[in-house]
Amino acid sequence: MRATEQTVVLLGRMTSFTAVCEACQEEQLTDLLEESWLGARVSGTLRLDDDHGWATCERGHRVRLIREGRSAESTVH
Ligand SMILES: [Zn+2]
Repeated sequence: MRATEQTVVLLGRMTSFTAVCEACQEEQLTDLLEESWLGARVSGTLRLDDDHGWATCERGHRVRLIREGRSAESTVH
């Protein structure tokens, strides 16, 4: 079974992040590549106005972005 969807939570007023792409990590584990996991990274940005968004890692995995923990007013689209 493969986890094809990942979620990164951005807290408060964070607008950018860098995380390990678990899908890449998994693939590289199975392939036993000698390359390090340094390539298994995903980074992206989320505008302060947005509560969610998407990022894509270098190998094309989609990562869902969710903003949590900002002040009370929440916008419903
Ligand atoms: Zn990936």
